[in-house]
Amino acid sequence: MAVLDQLTSQQAIDLENKYGAHNYHPLPVVLNKGEGVYVWDVEGKKYYDFLSAYSAVNQGHCHPRIVDAMIQQAQTLTLTSRAFHNDVLGKFEKFTCNFFGFDKLLPMNTGAEAVETALKLCRKWAYEVKGIDENKAEIIVCENNFHGRTTTIISFSNDPIARENFGPYTQGFIKVEYDNLLALEDALKSSPNIAGFLVEPIQGEAGVYVPSGDYLVKAKALCDKYHVLFIADEVQTGIARTGRLLATCGNCNCSIKSCEGKPEVKPDVLILGKAISGGVYPVSAVLANNNVMDVIKPGNHGSTFGGNPVAAAVAMAALEVIRDENLAQNAFELGNIFREELNKFIKTSSIVRLVRGKGLLNAIVINDDEGSNKAWDICLALKDNGLLAKPTHGNIIRFAPPLVMTKEQLLDCVSIIIETLKAFEA
Ligand SMILES: *Cc1c(COP(=O)(O)O)cnc(C)c1O
Repeated sequence: MAVLDQLTSQQAIDLENKYGAHNYHPLPVVLNKGEGVYVWDVEGKKYYDFLSAYSAVNQGHCHPRIVDAMIQQAQTLTLTSRAFHNDVLGKFEKFTCNFFGFDKLLPMNTGAEAVETALKLCRKWAYEVKGIDENKAEIIVCENNFHGRTTTIISFSNDPIARENFGPYTQGFIKVEYDNLLALEDALKSSPNIAGFLVEPIQGEAGVYVPSGDYLVKAKALCDKYHVLFIADEVQTGIARTGRLLATCGNCNCSIKSCEGKPEVKPDVLILGKAISGGVYPVSAVLANNNVMDVIKPGNHGSTFGGNPVAAAVAMAALEVIRDENLAQNAFELGNIFREELNKFIKTSSIVRLVRGKGLLNAIVINDDEGSNKAWDICLALKDNGLLAKPTHGNIIRFAPPLVMTKEQLLDCVSIIIETLKAFEA
């Protein structure tokens, strides 16, 4: 078999099974083309993408403006490393700092690297600014968090599958219940050595858990009270996904209508990834103001590819698309329609317990135990009916289409989802 021969889906799956590590359990569909809200499998069947590569493809597949930026930069200069300057990085840093309202940015590649960067930054700030004794700093995290896959990050996960037999684990983390301000304040009070609070504004991987309305605002106020950094992991919730530029949405310059009148939370440290590149290239970033970011000095931290010219050009184009195509506003409006339509169906149905989410980050909870296969079986049926989604945990299915969707397309998807669910009605 020549490398360039067109494979059938089964052949492609067999190759992955034989030669690839089995670290994922994908839906049995093999894609070879994407455009906007659609993807196609190798047999030519067309699907709505309702995962968007875990919210990395908010701008839609193969957005021409982002792809053009990548091609142009790739033909000019791809990588210098940070041993030398390049003429794109500074522009990207200025653009992105202005876009989100921060003084400085530290560029990395993947979400997990950006989380690691934020944790290191927080610890260094704790010792050098807050004055915590050497090696005593502790960072508060939430139960059922998902922040990536490095050894340190899985050290404070409570997903047994992500943790088991990867010890010894990194010390210095305290877990509190998500969406529980009393638990947070107890932890903040428990020790003078608390350096930061790392939180997802909506817990995506855990099953799209939206905290109560004032949780983030009050958590930020508590962090201020105890002189602790509020670190928002917006790798999944950021970049217009939840109907605002950021789910924490504080003090940015986006002028999006759906943000008006909403409480503002300005994180001390903001972590971005996924859709900051529109799914075209791995780009992530940590943003903070000078009082925090200036603890990082030459040699303290780095990445060979972080801040490379292709990444910088791609990310600027991807953020311009978010702004110029009003994708936050679109996510806000379509999200409301999506939940309204599903709620109408849920009133008449015994198969779905509820729908929840914000903007176009939503999930339904299937009326079955967590251990059942029903969510997976529903996703297989959705695939047959032309829509791709995946269970997050157990009986929860996440629905997160690209934000470039039209209202007509969304309503078409709603009817596919409802018709598919009806077939599972007891
Ligand atoms: C996906 C994700 C990460 C990790 O990003 P990678 O690019 O996969 O390393 C971190 N935090 C959150 C909230 C995520 O959803």
